[in-house]
Amino acid sequence: MSIADQAPDYIRAISPYQPGKPISELAREMGLIEASIVKLASNENPLGISPLAKEAVARAVAELARYPDGNGFALKSALSERTGVAMNGIVLGNGSNDILELVARTFLTPGAEAVFSQHAFAVYPLATMAVGGKPVTVPAKDFGHDLAAMGAAITDKTGVVFIANPNNPTGTFLPGAQIEAFLQAVPERVLVVLDEAYTEYLSEADRYDAISWLARFPNLLISRTFSKAYGLAGLRVGYGLGHPSVIDLLNRVRQPFNVNSLALAAATAALGDDEFLAKSADLNRRGMVQLTEAFKALSLEWIPSWGNFVTVKVGDGDAVCRKLLAQGVIVRPIGGYGMPQWLRVSIGLPEENARFIAALPQALA
Ligand SMILES: *Cc1c(COP(=O)(O)O)cnc(C)c1O
Repeated sequence: MSIADQAPDYIRAISPYQPGKPISELAREMGLIEASIVKLASNENPLGISPLAKEAVARAVAELARYPDGNGFALKSALSERTGVAMNGIVLGNGSNDILELVARTFLTPGAEAVFSQHAFAVYPLATMAVGGKPVTVPAKDFGHDLAAMGAAITDKTGVVFIANPNNPTGTFLPGAQIEAFLQAVPERVLVVLDEAYTEYLSEADRYDAISWLARFPNLLISRTFSKAYGLAGLRVGYGLGHPSVIDLLNRVRQPFNVNSLALAAATAALGDDEFLAKSADLNRRGMVQLTEAFKALSLEWIPSWGNFVTVKVGDGDAVCRKLLAQGVIVRPIGGYGMPQWLRVSIGLPEENARFIAALPQALA
């Protein structure tokens, strides 16, 4: 028996997360120069990092010999001011991925169930299985969450429900009123994680105020990230908002210094950069039109998206992806999400979108 066989069955059953291919890797593999490659595969912000965050990082470099502030005082203060949530209702994470894992480690025991939707974010089953929890995947409705079916899937064994709104990789959106009604119906002993990784991209008309629900639902945890609209994916920083008793437990489980100094400094500065946020959302709206117009012209089906990406039906997703890679364009095949005929394309700069659009007909042929 090998040492790997000693790991629990539930660990060995985990399928590894498949990240978007890094630009440097494709350049190596294809002998391309990095500057010629367009990456639209990981829902990153095409505008890069906010200038305010960049300056903050440069300043923070001088203090890197010191441990980070394990309580993240400055960032939590800024978040508290922004959100109206008291500091004891905020937990910081090494990306919001970290928040999702903390939830699993804190609220799931081996055998406990975590409910989420088919085609929902890949980290929900990963975090669940890593602690021996049982993933309960509820069939999607029109590629989105079927909240009625998810509610019906809750049993005595359910510890956590994960909802991604908007969802990745399908981009689907649930109006706030539906989530609020769901919270009303869920037993209070079940933690509901509302993953709002793309919330900053929502239009004024779609926006809803989940934070105002926290007072009524102590079993609600909202998770958000600086990786998408704030442009800090490489630094890894996200946060959770919830009832102080829940946040207290998550804080006990997390690593004492789970968010690094550069990430804390950058996030604190980025939070105040409303101009960058507005610019990001605006660029995204225009890019979404640019891509979906192209899909229309090619008679391709796509799923209307509320995120910074759009998912399009291309036939053999892996094959089309390979042909795009050969032309220096990286997008994301989502066979691992049970959608082998589809590709997820992140919204880039207008010229990056144009490169993808130009490469697409040849890749489809
Ligand atoms: C990108 C994403 C996240 C978080 O990413 P982090 O970089 O870990 O903050 C969380 N949920 C969804 C649905 C996402 O798409």
